[in-house]
Amino acid sequence: MTAAVAMDYLHKYLPAVADQLTISNATTTQNNLYGGLDLDGLNWLERTWAWYYIAMGNPIIATGLMSFAMHELVYFGRAIPWLIIDAIPYFQKWKLQPNKHVTRAQILQCTKVVLLTHFTCEAPLIWLFHPICCYFGMSTFEVPFSPPWLMAAQIAFFFVFEDTFHYWAHRALHYGPLYKNIHKLHHEFSAPIGLAAEYAHPLEVMILAQGTISGPFVYCLFRGDLHILTVYIWVTLRLFQAVDAHSGYDFPWSLRHFLPFWAGADHHDYHHQAFTNCYSTSFRWWDYMLGTDAKYHAYRSRIAAAKQHERKQVLLEENERTEREGILAERAVLAGRKGKLQE
Ligand SMILES: [Zn+2]
Ligand SMILES: [Zn+2]
Repeated sequence: MTAAVAMDYLHKYLPAVADQLTISNATTTQNNLYGGLDLDGLNWLERTWAWYYIAMGNPIIATGLMSFAMHELVYFGRAIPWLIIDAIPYFQKWKLQPNKHVTRAQILQCTKVVLLTHFTCEAPLIWLFHPICCYFGMSTFEVPFSPPWLMAAQIAFFFVFEDTFHYWAHRALHYGPLYKNIHKLHHEFSAPIGLAAEYAHPLEVMILAQGTISGPFVYCLFRGDLHILTVYIWVTLRLFQAVDAHSGYDFPWSLRHFLPFWAGADHHDYHHQAFTNCYSTSFRWWDYMLGTDAKYHAYRSRIAAAKQHERKQVLLEENERTEREGILAERAVLAGRKGKLQE
């Protein structure tokens, strides 16, 4: 009875969603979704995509399931190798805070919180993803996909949009009451690990996820040529960025050495250690333009100025000092005091 009322409501206000929910078998699904489109004329990935939607028989469930599975696979698939790297002594020379070692209890606690957030907060919302995509006019089950040049341009826009959103939202989360009630959990790791990228209060996950997902919806408001596959590629790259930024390692081959404006682990690790500075995610320009990287640059310059044979010792001393100052800065925010350490 309740389901029938819900369907009546959907037919009245969201007929496109209702049509997709009433699809019931493979032939009807194929006719409804693809009409007379010759699927054999498409490339392998596009055919697989179409067959997946036809086999699932319900685009809302198909998109919801794929979105959730993609997020879990990419997040843990990218985070677990960092745990392995951390256990191999060879890589220790590139660790940003070499004196810090994560414990098994911390890894378990982190996994527990991340999974709990994913299953209780993200999973239920992900089922709304398909209807919201339809509402904004984003292609989901449709094939063919967008051309690669268009995907690249759209993803570039999403990166810039997210970085800007994240910079301001993250700075806001460092404001006393917001920090105390929301962002504090994420800062439990002063030397982060890849798995801790989404170790955060559910509200923080929801707020910062807006930066990732609003870019595609804002884009859809102005242009109607966005495919959900492009969004999946974007989310994958964004997850790679977030996990890597928390990895605690800066290798000579890390992207920031080739793209000077790329933030990388070096930038975000300092934020966790110092509690202040470096609020951006992907790029360095917001922190640079607004001077919220002055302490970070001074720290890097002092390490770079040390003689080669003293550099390891200077790094350890600088890290200890930075962390001490970070603890004081955090206390000042929690106590509602404004200090010059809070830039
Ligand atoms: Zn922070
Ligand atoms: Zn972080």
